[in-house]
Amino acid sequence: YLDQYVIGQHTAKKRLSVAVYNHYRRLENLEKVQKEEDEIEIQKSNLLLIGPTGTGKTLMAQSLAKFLNVPFVIADATTLTEAGYVGEDVENIVQKLYRAANNDVKKTIRGIIFVDEIDKLAKKGSGGSVSRDVSGEGVQQALLKIIEGTVANIQMKENKRLSTQQSVQIDTSHILFICGGSFEGLEKIIEQRTGKGTIGFDSENSVSEEQSDRTLADVTPEDLEKFGIIPEFIGRLPVIAVMEHLDQDQLVKILAEPKNALTKQYQKLFKEENITLSFTDDALQAIAAKAVSRKSGARGLRAIIEEVMLDIMYEAPSETDLVEVIIEEATIVDAQPPKTIYSNVSIPS
Ligand code: ADP
Repeated sequence: YLDQYVIGQHTAKKRLSVAVYNHYRRLENLEKVQKEEDEIEIQKSNLLLIGPTGTGKTLMAQSLAKFLNVPFVIADATTLTEAGYVGEDVENIVQKLYRAANNDVKKTIRGIIFVDEIDKLAKKGSGGSVSRDVSGEGVQQALLKIIEGTVANIQMKENKRLSTQQSVQIDTSHILFICGGSFEGLEKIIEQRTGKGTIGFDSENSVSEEQSDRTLADVTPEDLEKFGIIPEFIGRLPVIAVMEHLDQDQLVKILAEPKNALTKQYQKLFKEENITLSFTDDALQAIAAKAVSRKSGARGLRAIIEEVMLDIMYEAPSETDLVEVIIEEATIVDAQPPKTIYSNVSIPS
């Protein structure tokens, strides 16, 4: 199922699949334990996804939730604060999940919460490169509480007109947490421990992406602690999956293959105007090459396509004779207009 949406990331997919499968087995088992049909209680295995931005961490968590048909929310760790500070309270995340579950408590407690940019909560003065003003450690502690399991009080703000404020109690012990982060600077910590230096430089004189993937694959809980994540928190994220940099060929696949691939989305838009849109293989390679150089993973793809499509998307709806648009390499590399074919005459680009 994940292969339909996520390109590459084989190891991470495997880790995630097993962990999530076990999580829901665990929930079934829990019902038996509660009915005293079973004695062994399986512990929850939350996940940590480490890897460069734009490699599919969010997409993976999202796809899993979709497959399992459970409520899902994405929280950004950088906006979270401890209770009492200005900002988003950690308990708000649970509230969001409750909303995503259409205010159904039973569904909420089986949901998945994805906490992005968890690395930005690293303690000050530790190995991590970025620190924040408001104590990241305090937020780690607050998050830890809901990950470990607490009863969160959700205020029903919708019922403002009622004089008594209603609240709902949500037990968070069984909610699955997937945390994600790019953990810049973690490689150095791993290298210090393993004694393996950064050899392999690529043409741009930076550490090659493959080398960096190999280093990250060696990550241990101790490295994360050095980075500035508190040990209790690491202890609650027993499954660590490392996402790899996406190479040009994988980016080409991302453009064309997934169920809701970008090129398919644009083709659909053009089809609404009765225009056939296509991309040559060279054009796809050129888009992917541009994205590689921007170093934002698959995230850059959309902006690149959007740039080259702007003019034609502006013109197309008023050009009634236009039947076909072909995006070629020159459109991407030299900003040439795409090849257009009209119903009666073909105008070369
Ligand atoms: P991350 O959370 O790792 O920063 P995202 O999951 O938000 O990255 O990815 C951003 C976008 O790029 C996604 O919406 C998706 O369209 C695309 N994308 C990223 N990685 C992949 C992948 N491995 N396979 C398919 N699409 C991907």
